[in-house]
Amino acid sequence: MDYTAKINVVRQRIVHACERAGRHADEVKLVAVTKYIGVEETRALIRSGITDLAENRVQVALPKVKEIHENVCWHFIGHLQTNKVKDVLPYFQMIHSLDRFSLAKEIDQRAKKMGIETVSCLVQVNVSGEATKGGLKPDEVRPFLESLAEFSSIRVHGLMTMAPRVENPEETRPVFRRLKELRDSLQHIDFPYVEMRELSMGMSEDFEVAIEEGATMVRLGSVLVKP
Ligand SMILES: *Cc1c(COP(=O)(O)O)cnc(C)c1O
Repeated sequence: MDYTAKINVVRQRIVHACERAGRHADEVKLVAVTKYIGVEETRALIRSGITDLAENRVQVALPKVKEIHENVCWHFIGHLQTNKVKDVLPYFQMIHSLDRFSLAKEIDQRAKKMGIETVSCLVQVNVSGEATKGGLKPDEVRPFLESLAEFSSIRVHGLMTMAPRVENPEETRPVFRRLKELRDSLQHIDFPYVEMRELSMGMSEDFEVAIEEGATMVRLGSVLVKP
């Protein structure tokens, strides 16, 4: 099992998307989504140079994450139930799906109990308004950030979104553009626990468009690991 060739192709596509947008390739982090593969394949990804890995379901993720002892960064990217927070915090270094007050409260309380000083989070935004997608409405993000002031363990590093599945990736562009505008409009707000830098957006079908629109993290599964 060797993913080197696939990773190289994807990295080249990232470089070209950056070039089109006048950006540097090192502004974009490749986060490999491992939900389709097992422990051995995940290890092979790591051997090929992947340092950031993501899972979207706690039950599927935990057995795998516990088996991986390499020094990597795990990202939690799926809907997070409050009763699963205690399982996620010890293993995941970033939560991309912070989308409600009750979740923030649970993260803060659990982190304190577990002696975890800070938890890095992205606020998930439902830009497209699809009923099936999680995330806050764009207008709700600012008041939500204000409401986090009482949770001293939480650090917000930016925003995350999922674009609708469409035939032509070009159709996702307005969604990504809107997320970047939202991040830019929040960048000047001066909360010590918020640093509005990251834009986690773009998946296998649409990551090049997302990069052209400013993505700093792309979450790629099938393009890397599907045969
Ligand atoms: C599965 C998943 C991805 C990766 O999807 P691909 O289309 O396989 O690249 C990215 N983000 C989230 C939240 C996911 O659940």
